[in-house]
This record gives sequence, C-alpha cells and structure tokens, in this order.
Amino acid sequence: MRYRIVQCPNCGNLQSTSSTAVFKCFRCNKSKKLNPKSKFGLGVKVLAAFDESAQAAKFIQEYTRLLHSK
Ligand SMILES: [Zn+2]
Repeated sequence: MRYRIVQCPNCGNLQSTSSTAVFKCFRCNKSKKLNPKSKFGLGVKVLAAFDESAQAAKFIQEYTRLLHSK
C-alpha cells in the first residue's frame, strides 16, 4: 500500500492517506479529490509518498517540527 502525505487546502492540516481518489481531512472534515498525476494540479497537494505508514507518520512529525521551528 502507498501512503501519501497530503495537506488540507482548507485548514492546512497534514495527514497521510492510502486513498488515491479522495482526501478527507480529520481536522476540518472537508473532503477533496486527489490529483495523483500532478503534484501541482488543482487537487490536493501531495507532499510525499511512502510504502510504510510508519514512514508517513515520521514525515508528518518532522515536517510539522520544521514548520514550527521557523
Ligand atoms: Zn482540513
């Protein structure tokens, strides 16, 4: 399974999803179509993709820490 790190366009929340079609935000509950063919398309932005959910979780942790250390 592939885990994608996506950022909610509505609230900016980062989360991993194994879905390839639709992203649903845990924080604000909005759902949005994913756009797996383009990182910079009209869909939700995919920041990274991992094979293991643990790697995905770690990425979110690191990314969040970087954001807050600025
Ligand atoms: Zn959200």
